[in-house]
Parts: sequence; C-alpha cells; structure tokens
Amino acid sequence: MGFISRRKFLNHSGALSVMLGAGGSGLLVAQSQPTAPNQMARKLKLMVAGGHPGDPEYGCGGTVARYTDLGHEAVLLYLNDGEPANSGKPPKGPKGFRIAEAKKACEILKARPLFAGQTDGAAVVDNAHYAAFRKIIEDERPDVLLTQWPVDNHPDHRAISMLAYDAWLRLGKKFAFYYYEVSDGEDTLMFSPTEYVDITAVEERKRAACYAHASQSPDKFYDLQRRVAVFRGLESAHRQAEAYIRHPQSPHELLPADSRV
Ligand SMILES: [Zn+2]
Repeated sequence: MGFISRRKFLNHSGALSVMLGAGGSGLLVAQSQPTAPNQMARKLKLMVAGGHPGDPEYGCGGTVARYTDLGHEAVLLYLNDGEPANSGKPPKGPKGFRIAEAKKACEILKARPLFAGQTDGAAVVDNAHYAAFRKIIEDERPDVLLTQWPVDNHPDHRAISMLAYDAWLRLGKKFAFYYYEVSDGEDTLMFSPTEYVDITAVEERKRAACYAHASQSPDKFYDLQRRVAVFRGLESAHRQAEAYIRHPQSPHELLPADSRV
C-alpha cells in the first residue's frame, strides 16, 4: 500500500459528502468515487456504540457499510444483549436470540459485534462502569467512535452516551467522536446535525441489517428511521443520509465524509 497525501486520500475517499456549518452558512462539498483499498492512507477502525442490539444499525448502518466497503474495520458495541432481566413479560425468543440477530446484522454490514455486558432496561452509570467501559474502548483502540445523542427518551441510550463520552474524554480525545440519532421523537430529541453521510447507495443493506432484528418490530421502526434518513437527505442534497454531530474538540479528518482539507 503506497503512501498518499491526506488531501489526496480525502479527495479519493469521497463518495460521501459533508455539510459544513461554519457561520451558519452551509457549504456542501460532494465527492464522487470511493477509495479503493490500495489507495487508503491507512486502515481505520470504526466503533459504533449503542444501548441495544439494533441501535447502531438503525442510526449508522449506512455509514458502517460505507466504511467496510472501503476496506475499513467496523465494530458494533452494544451496551446490553437486548434481553431484559425480570421484565415480567415472556421472552420473544430462546435465550440469546437477540445476540443471534445482532450477529446476523453485523454479517450484513461486514462488522464485528461486541457486548459491554450490561442488562437491558437496567443500565448503570457509575465509576466502576465508567472504568469497565473505558477499558473496552482502550483495548479496541478505535479511530472513530460514534455514540447515541444524550437527549433521549430511553435510559439505556442516555447511559451509552455518557459512558462513551467519558471514555473519549479520559482517553485524551485522541480519536474522532460523533453522536448519532435513532427513532427521532420516540427516542432521540433535540438533534441538530453538523455532518451528513450519503447512504443512498447502501440503503438496501442498511435495511437488511435492521430487519435482521426481526423481533424488534422492524416494519414500524425501520419505517420511522427511513423517514429520518429521507429528511436528512433533503437537508444535505441526497436521497437518503445519516446525520451526525461532531464534538467540537474531536478530530474530524477520519470520517470518510469529511472533505474539508
Ligand atoms: Zn435502543
């Protein structure tokens, strides 16, 4: 793999685009062809943290597909395995069925599933769990971490947001850090994106990955997320897009969408 300059890498890595919000006047920079693996400056590791199996796929499945299509590595990190303890309701499947759904979804996106070991509906955010979560991130050494936006109606989503943010801070803000949205109105609220990724070309794979979570009413929730993606596409001049908020102190050069330099 020959070395190429960062500018050249980014120019070639396009296929995505980014809306720049400087001064409130958006500058849309569109790119064309994806980077072939032998043109990449280096292989990146993308991690997407979510409260439950399905959250990373619904919020970022298209972006994950774009990364892995470019030859990068992707890990979907779930706070819990989606099976609530003592919910009082009969389980929707045999033990481990949500893990099996997550594995299938990850196969579709060419990603690797990883579980942080907490319990669905009973997320804990305290010093011990901050430390345990940080260790996972430290061991994985991501170049980019995407996590759920903290203003959210589900406590597990708020928990993963806090755990991921704490890990990013305490590990020195060395990797890129973005927030994503899921099921706006039902879950995510008050989300004003700073970046957009065009997912038009990979929407079918995102859909398949979301439908791999067959026990989770995909007809209802995928339809909602698709409408969010269409709206974000309208904002960013694509048919469908996924939207992100970059932490202002985060490096931004690692998201393939980014073409600011
Ligand atoms: Zn969730």
